[in-house]
Amino acid sequence: MASCTLGRNFCCVQASTFKTPQLLKLSGVGDKKVLDAHGVPVKPDLPGVGANFRFILTVGSAPEAGKSYCTVFTALTHPFSSGTVHIASSDPLSAPNIDYNVLDNQIDIDVLTHGIEFARRLVATDSLHGIINEIVPGPTVRSKAELEDFIRKTIGLVFHPIGTATAPRRCFRGAKGASSIPC
Ligand SMILES: Cc1cc2nc3c(=O)[nH]c(=O)nc-3n(C[C@H](O)[C@H](O)[C@H](O)COP(=O)(O)OP(=O)(O)OC[C@H]3O[C@@H](n4cnc5c(N)ncnc54)[C@H](O)[C@@H]3O)c2cc1C
Repeated sequence: MASCTLGRNFCCVQASTFKTPQLLKLSGVGDKKVLDAHGVPVKPDLPGVGANFRFILTVGSAPEAGKSYCTVFTALTHPFSSGTVHIASSDPLSAPNIDYNVLDNQIDIDVLTHGIEFARRLVATDSLHGIINEIVPGPTVRSKAELEDFIRKTIGLVFHPIGTATAPRRCFRGAKGASSIPC
């Protein structure tokens, strides 16, 4: 686990998006409701620890494994849906509960839909027309409902989980005591 000293009374925990909120909660820093459920003494109650969990989302899939295709990658780097990482027990060796809550917010589906429509306009330009033929999602998948269904079936997560122990600016502006712990 990486850590850096921020001052005499402060340190920065960097145990990743999944383990940082778990370590904080096992230390009593987290949502009182979650900590109470596992008998962990609360100090202080910070509901933001383990909340706001987000991932980069991608949509699409290879039509056939083992073959090479030209892919216009549709990705959403700032999703509005957010999940949680909470402790499953007071045992530090057990894994935390991870709720991805992907595509919970309709805005994410709308943005990804626009991304697919943009990719279609791109391959229809004079420069690419006839060179790239759409295979996935396929020319018959046109309506918003069909595209949403395609997005829900093929949604993927890229390796950039973030957000479960965000440190707002006030944490680094001389706040004192417990309130300066990332929240
Ligand atoms: C395949 C892949 C490709 C990526 N490519 C890119 C890229 O191109 N560009 C980019 O910006 N990012 C990329 N990322 C994301 C980037 O690697 C992460 O965002 C970054 O490493 C997160 O840093 P971190 O310090 O929060 O966590 P980590 O790097 O995961 O560090 C956490 C450390 O804490 C340790 N730890 C955890 N729990 C405990 C414990 N209980 N006790 C002791 N130690 C513990 C872990 O062993 C680990 O060493 C990629 C990630 C992956 C998986």
